[in-house]
Amino acid sequence: MTLREEYAELQAKGLKLDLTRGKPSPEQLDLSAGLLELPGAADFRAADGTDTRNYGGLTGLPELIEIFSPLLGIPQGQLLALGNASLQIMHDVIANALLSAVPGAPRRWVDEGEVVFLCPTPGYDRHFGVCERFGIRMVPVALTGHGPDMDEVERLVAADPRIKGMWCVPAYSNPTGEVYSAETVRRLAAMPTAAPDFRIFWDNAYALHDLTDRRAGLASILDACAEAGNPDRAFVFASTSKVTLAGSGVAFFGSSPANVEWLKKLMAKQTIGPDKVNQLRHVRFFGDADGVLAHMAKHRALLAPRFAAVEHVLERELGGRGIARWTRPEGGYFVSLEVPDGCAAEVVRLAKEAGVALTPAGAAFPYGHDPRDHQIRLAPSYPTLTELTEAMEAVALCVRLAAEEHKVVTEGGVQ
Ligand code: PMP
Repeated sequence: MTLREEYAELQAKGLKLDLTRGKPSPEQLDLSAGLLELPGAADFRAADGTDTRNYGGLTGLPELIEIFSPLLGIPQGQLLALGNASLQIMHDVIANALLSAVPGAPRRWVDEGEVVFLCPTPGYDRHFGVCERFGIRMVPVALTGHGPDMDEVERLVAADPRIKGMWCVPAYSNPTGEVYSAETVRRLAAMPTAAPDFRIFWDNAYALHDLTDRRAGLASILDACAEAGNPDRAFVFASTSKVTLAGSGVAFFGSSPANVEWLKKLMAKQTIGPDKVNQLRHVRFFGDADGVLAHMAKHRALLAPRFAAVEHVLERELGGRGIARWTRPEGGYFVSLEVPDGCAAEVVRLAKEAGVALTPAGAAFPYGHDPRDHQIRLAPSYPTLTELTEAMEAVALCVRLAAEEHKVVTEGGVQ
């Protein structure tokens, strides 16, 4: 049977599967079912007696901060527990930096002729969306498997004062799954920058999301920045979106004392305080940091077999053919699949027409443009194991078909 014939058979199956976004599965959400009963009608007082039902408490519930401080490696006094979405905090921190000079800045970013961010790629499309929304020019930098190409990053930031920021997903990066090495963290913290107000947006969304029983072992960017004499360089973000309930979790911000003061003052204009009732129920649900880690082990038990299924099908269907490479992440939510240059959009199109929705090709690149049209993000968390296996078999067939037909065209086999 030709690949075209196999593809016609696949289409005839009428699949309806979705590998697009990294959403927790219903089983994962069930792990936090207890949260829906907490804190309970009679339980609304924080440890210091605060009535969490009322206004106030801008910086978040101290006992929740106490639980997450060691997990995120951020001193309690430098950690804020806020709303439900870290993406919103990232968006607002950029809006604030545009409109109110960050510590050490000669002027507001909006008063600069142009603001530029470095974007390690492939990366998180919503980061790039925030930059687009604010007219921040994005410059891609390649990822290496242990963080961005630091020679390139150092060269760029040393030369151009318009480079004010850089996105980083340092643990189990979205979508490559890589963890920044200690050396990468050290160099990011220590590198000379032409802009005195350069900031690293350290989105530690997957800090706790190990797929093995080893922790990611990420070095502390705040410590590294302080040691290098650049204490205000990093803004750190995290959330429990993929720990408890995506959409009803708690987001965190951590940074130097000066940056935290800067943000607190601006936040006070935006809100009277975060949802402390939600924070209290998270405290009751976890108890302590070990409670969080025990909870993450339950996620791992659901996620690890899914990642193993992806690896199994990719290896069986595409291994040794020289047409695809993929990541084998030890944490996070994604597998990054690389197909021959010029084939990614075609693979996504073929998969769609066979009933398998994939993240659009190019989505992991600034402006949605993958110059080599070669990268596809796979999100295995949501489908059941059976659906996932079926979807991956379909994707693998689409890769083989696209690669074969592309080769025929580019090598002139068919005139
Ligand atoms: N950062 C990264 C790297 C992510 O992958 C995600 C979720 N897909 C988010 C942030 C979103 O986090 P939150 O729900 O806290 O806004």
